Amino acid sequence: MFVDSKTINAEPYRIKAVEPMRVTTREHRQEALESAGYNTFLLRSEDVFIDLLTDSGTSAMSDTQWAALMRGDEAYAGSRSFYALEKAVQDVYGFPYVVPTHQGRGAEHLISQILITPGQYTPGNMYFTTTRAHQELAGATFVDVINDKAHDPTAAGAFKGDVDLGKLQKLIDDVGPDKIAYVNVAVTVNLAGGQPVSMANLRAVYELCHPLGILVWSDATRCVENAYFIQQREPGYADRTVAEILREMMSYFDGCTMSGKKDNLVNIGGFLAMRDEGVLQKARSLVVLFEGMPSYGGMAGRDMEAMSVGIREMVDDAYIAHRVRQVEYLGTLLDEEGVPIVKPIGGHGVFLDARAFLPHLEQDVFPAQALAAELYLDSGVRSMERGIVSAGRDPATGDHRRPKLELVRLTVPRRVYTDRHMEVVADSVIRLYRRRSEIRGLAMVYEPETLRFFTARFAPLGA
Ligand SMILES: *Cc1c(COP(=O)(O)O)cnc(C)c1O
Repeated sequence: MFVDSKTINAEPYRIKAVEPMRVTTREHRQEALESAGYNTFLLRSEDVFIDLLTDSGTSAMSDTQWAALMRGDEAYAGSRSFYALEKAVQDVYGFPYVVPTHQGRGAEHLISQILITPGQYTPGNMYFTTTRAHQELAGATFVDVINDKAHDPTAAGAFKGDVDLGKLQKLIDDVGPDKIAYVNVAVTVNLAGGQPVSMANLRAVYELCHPLGILVWSDATRCVENAYFIQQREPGYADRTVAEILREMMSYFDGCTMSGKKDNLVNIGGFLAMRDEGVLQKARSLVVLFEGMPSYGGMAGRDMEAMSVGIREMVDDAYIAHRVRQVEYLGTLLDEEGVPIVKPIGGHGVFLDARAFLPHLEQDVFPAQALAAELYLDSGVRSMERGIVSAGRDPATGDHRRPKLELVRLTVPRRVYTDRHMEVVADSVIRLYRRRSEIRGLAMVYEPETLRFFTARFAPLGA
């Protein structure tokens, strides 16, 4: 038996610095939960044991990245660290032009303002909160063109993130190519449970759109996890490196928005990358207004330096294999006990199917929110609601949007927790599952106007 990136089943790193975490009592957590209005976003991190709220900005940097911070060039213009970032993006993604932004939504804002004329449509493979919000702010209407399986948490499928070409074609036929601002393809699809898109589908979307002059952009936030799934699942890619697969994926896009806080292995940052010089010029003039000079776009020189290292580390086959397999390990522990989860298990987290977990709760009493609160109470594990609360209200009717998926997301930060932590999380979820009939719903007692899941407050409903 030999060890390589295909067989490794232990963390491919050793621990050089540790961050102690606090173990709390149930009484303490009850108090903390009440003051947080039963919203895990409003908990204080020091009251949390294992924090699976998000994989965003929670990655552990490598020793090389920490060393890179010291090399950061903090010049106001023309920072050496910008050129390091630009070179990393060119080498790893293959886009010639880069505009740094403070995080992914900064890039989404820029591209929405640049490409959208009010009244146009922005088809995408399922919505993402900030992406759709920026598209709507620029006057577009988002249209979901993901395949139907993505909305079914129990459906099998190697590439449940795929665009439904029939739906996309129908939209083009209905409104005309001129009314499509651009197609936005997310790799992987966060709100579908981290499901990947196949290379064949990316190629097909490109081949459908390009002859019609329709631009295809990518939300590349978790593109490396997607590349790993292609390597594992798509015929013809088993012997290609993740780095090679990523380059091919990106070749089917005109540009991408990137949240550096996810696959790029840094705690803050993002960028917009593209092939077209005209888009670059517009992005450079807008970034000055909203983010900062085009050579830093809201990032410190040191952060650009660390991100340029993270971009190269993220395509290491051993790293990405363990990252995705750790998530799969957590999911498998739950699945073996019959806990309803989204399947197949996605790239960045395990998604509990709260409708199936709590069938006695109507969607209007926020089952996923209630389950996330119970999990925190049980073990101090923090998770996130991805269901009716996250979906918000329909601007036209003012009613709740009622997504088919009502999920609790257990998101695994990169390089932070060990497989043993995953076992502790699984034990707690399984305990809750065994006494699921006792879990009650919630009432929303405070609701903000936009992106309500961040700050809404809830109270438990009576028995
Ligand atoms: C996180 C995320 C974004 C936004 O990035 P931020 O860095 O949080 O602004 C966009 N799309 C997807 C799929 C994401 O997960």
